[in-house]
Amino acid sequence: MEPDFLSMTSGEWRSWMEQAGEKPFRGDIVFRHLHQRHAVSYDEMTDLGKALREKLSKECPLNYPRIETVQRAEDGTAKFLLRLYDGKAVECVLMKYKFGYSLCISSQAGCRMGCRFCASTLGGLERSLTAGEMAAEVYTVERSENLNISHIVIMGCGEPFDNYDALLRFLELIHDEKGRNLSKRNITVSTCGLPNRIRQFADEGTGVSLAISLHAPNDEIRKKIMRVAEGVPMEKLMDAVRYYQEKTSDRVTFEYILIDGINDSDDNARELAERLKGMLAHVNVIPVNPVEECGFARPSEARIRRFMAVLEEKGVNVTRRREMGKNIDAACGQLRARAGKKLDH
Ligand code: SAH
Repeated sequence: MEPDFLSMTSGEWRSWMEQAGEKPFRGDIVFRHLHQRHAVSYDEMTDLGKALREKLSKECPLNYPRIETVQRAEDGTAKFLLRLYDGKAVECVLMKYKFGYSLCISSQAGCRMGCRFCASTLGGLERSLTAGEMAAEVYTVERSENLNISHIVIMGCGEPFDNYDALLRFLELIHDEKGRNLSKRNITVSTCGLPNRIRQFADEGTGVSLAISLHAPNDEIRKKIMRVAEGVPMEKLMDAVRYYQEKTSDRVTFEYILIDGINDSDDNARELAERLKGMLAHVNVIPVNPVEECGFARPSEARIRRFMAVLEEKGVNVTRRREMGKNIDAACGQLRARAGKKLDH
């Protein structure tokens, strides 16, 4: 693994400068250039002396990803395939909302959670991203599109809680007021549901929002579509979520993809409502985005509306995910999976 200087916190940059015999505040200058101005080379840091810039270039190489393809949809959604320095690919999706720009970023190249509807998992896990690589997704898109991203969702390729330390470091980097200074309230982490990590995350008190990919009202159905459910009974997951809520007083979002004939009946909706009773919860319904290799279909419009209506009748707070960029393979991992195939052939 290459050393990764974009992962260094402002404190670590100050120490680096001290060790190099420089004034520590110069560490803050480098950090600001990297994390606020999105410098991709030390040559841009003209407020540092030439000798120091050369030393930094030699000793602290920056490995920014390269934008390999951009696909744009009419609704303003753009999907980026980023090539990392070692040839691995990840994707991120830029979405335009009334409130601003939101970026969906990846936490790993591939994924080992094995959800049966998801394209990211098809080739397994290649490797986890570093904190700096996660930040670089944000900065690369901001720099090339010349805009400011106001919200980040960690819902691209990978399971963020399977890359926990890098996730925490990424949150520290992106929130640092000396750098990008992005509000933690505007960041959402989505997990397929690893109870120990959910509890740890609650204790950490990061202040970011949490979304749980639930996708089923009971273990039997969940096991059919999510491998993680084989080791984690739903009650254990819900206990962890309740712990999270007690600690943070935060509303949790449950994501629920609707798959034709699998988890979309009235009974399924009633059982889901029962499960969530008494929780400060919100259900985000997403009709499954069919991935050829997975063989799941989306329900009819009438079925989707009916499922939501049943939840509402039972007093569950429910919204439907605005589907963006469908014609550009914006569903999780699809662009990357296709690029991988092209490379294989
Ligand atoms: N591993 C994390 C984050 C990445 S997946 C998690 O599981 O939450 C982000 C979201 O996209 C999850 O809710 C996931 O279940 C959903 N997703 C994956 N494949 C999908 C598909 N084909 N159609 C709709 N949603 C999908």
